[in-house]
Amino acid sequence: MASEKKLHTIIIGGGTSGLLVAQGLKKAGLPYSIFEQETSTSYQTRPREWGMTLHWGSEHIAACLPPELVARITETYADPSVPPDAVTGLPVYNGKTGEMLMNMVGDRPCRVSRKKLRNLFSEGLTVQYGKELAEVIEEGNQVTAVFTDGTKATGDVLVGCDGARSKTRDFICGEEMAQLTTVPLTMFNFTQQYTAEQALHVRKLNPIFATSIHPDFGAMFWLSIQDVPDPDKPETWVFQLLMSWMNDPLPKAEDNDEGRLAFLKKRSEKWAEPWKSAGLWVKEGTKIPNDPGTYWERAAQWDNRKGKMTLCGDAAHPMTPHRGQGLNNALQDSSNFVSAIKEAASGGNSLANAIDAYDKEVLERGTLEMQISLKQTIFIHNWETLMASPMVKMGMRQAKEPASEEV
Ligand SMILES: Cc1cc2nc3c(=O)[nH]c(=O)nc-3n(C[C@H](O)[C@H](O)[C@H](O)COP(=O)(O)OP(=O)(O)OC[C@H]3O[C@@H](n4cnc5c(N)ncnc54)[C@H](O)[C@@H]3O)c2cc1C
Repeated sequence: MASEKKLHTIIIGGGTSGLLVAQGLKKAGLPYSIFEQETSTSYQTRPREWGMTLHWGSEHIAACLPPELVARITETYADPSVPPDAVTGLPVYNGKTGEMLMNMVGDRPCRVSRKKLRNLFSEGLTVQYGKELAEVIEEGNQVTAVFTDGTKATGDVLVGCDGARSKTRDFICGEEMAQLTTVPLTMFNFTQQYTAEQALHVRKLNPIFATSIHPDFGAMFWLSIQDVPDPDKPETWVFQLLMSWMNDPLPKAEDNDEGRLAFLKKRSEKWAEPWKSAGLWVKEGTKIPNDPGTYWERAAQWDNRKGKMTLCGDAAHPMTPHRGQGLNNALQDSSNFVSAIKEAASGGNSLANAIDAYDKEVLERGTLEMQISLKQTIFIHNWETLMASPMVKMGMRQAKEPASEEV
């Protein structure tokens, strides 16, 4: 009979993927320790927040979360008062004329708040905050995480759930192979509140999201609801605005908070409603960060040291965000990783074989999606190629085939 091994998992990163791994291991009665670099305060007060479209990946949540938390998933919605089936797809508009181009199909799409999702997934877990990974050391059959405060944690497996700029990936792959490729993308992604009247106008097309592409600039202007503290008070609603384009960076002298806001307003003037007003009404003094797009072009099978180290979520497949797939894949990774550890712990497979199989699947699925998401980013930012972009052919659906055949 197969023997039970209490494999201890060290989880680096308390984002969505790390928390879901911890929940899954807890549910299976397997030991884990989870470490997050931010303090418990900065974790809650960080200024950068965004919403995410949850669609096909939601099917992987229930495998890890206890049923009482699964039942509360609607609490993580940007607006929990919008019924889950109220929206069936993402409407895409011509930004110049306001004409609807398509309704991008998705599998029960809903808009979740990154912060609310993290908070729900944290419930019942002991997350060790203020622990920034500095080094990973292999010691026989064990692996040790060393943190910047000098403390250490030792376990049987270490999983890097530490996001796109994963330090774990540097240790597993070496810094050269782990390097990200930067896409020539300019992306303003920020939140905004309006007066009640303005908020109703900005939200008039769709209760959760509406995106647009402007034919003259090949630029995207996305609007979505980010938080609704009081459905009856539109002045409390928080919106997410995202404007992006390629190959035309702002001049250095304008690439600062004031310059970016001025640029956004100038461009918004050329847009149809409600994007035009949403941009023009952005308050003076609003901080508008400029994010480039990145992905892991050098991704290749990493050496998991006989199953002792691996990657999960954005750490395994950082991708550009225009197809809304990062979170959905991260949820599948977390559920698959927990299954691999359960298999190894129950003696049904060796740790090395279970993690080998996990890694192979994550790399194949992640590489395919990084390529398709990149194609989406490139194609939607050019009016000539827009209608040949992956969103037209496959909507938000999960990629299953080789990129060339599928898109
Ligand atoms: C603008 C934008 C829009 C997006 N929209 C969508 C969408 O619509 N749908 C979708 O599916 N996806 C979307 N995504 C992608 C999605 O946000 C990510 O895929 C998802 O958040 C990844 O979760 P994660 O847990 O793997 O990484 P993260 O959420 O990045 O979490 C990593 C955690 O690790 C911690 N950490 C980092 N380094 C260390 C260290 N050295 N030591 C300890 N801890 C560390 C970090 O503080 C962080 O808390 C979007 C992304 C962006 C930027």
